[in-house]
Amino acid sequence: MTTMPHIVQDGDSVLRECAQTVPLKDISSVKIQKVISDMKKAMDSQKDGVAIAAPQIGVPLRIFVVSDKIMKEADKEYKSIGRDLVFINPEITKLSRDKHEVEEGCLSVRWKYGKVSRSIKATVSGYNELGEKVVRGASGLLAQVFQHETDHLDGVLFIDKAFDVQDIPPEDLENGK
Ligand code: ZN
Repeated sequence: MTTMPHIVQDGDSVLRECAQTVPLKDISSVKIQKVISDMKKAMDSQKDGVAIAAPQIGVPLRIFVVSDKIMKEADKEYKSIGRDLVFINPEITKLSRDKHEVEEGCLSVRWKYGKVSRSIKATVSGYNELGEKVVRGASGLLAQVFQHETDHLDGVLFIDKAFDVQDIPPEDLENGK
């Protein structure tokens, strides 16, 4: 029997910690691979789960995962690598000066949505689940995700930056309101 990893909600102190760097030699360990697999399970359990950071399952480590499936559905410009994107010890190395206001929500801040000003383009460098160095540039939704998820690793939630925040419970979302 597998248990579904719990998604931590706003108010839990783990979401406010500065998450710790993962030692590179530990990436292949059972412990870290289990964290990554639990993150994917938690993300995939939510219809709107485009990405998740490790603190959101209660693990204060610098890891985030982006859903390949949801990205493909949401953004036709997205270039798939055929599996979920995993970033370990990610750092944003470039941010465009040009910003736009985008709608944002969070699996750990149910059911609030608001507008956030995000750079249109962002580049992240880090390590993947195989311990390989990865650098990925992105625009639009993926760039927004990079900024939202790296914020999580520094204890920052989108509601800290958002304006026009509204509560939209799932019934309303399903009715298209
Ligand atoms: Zn979030």
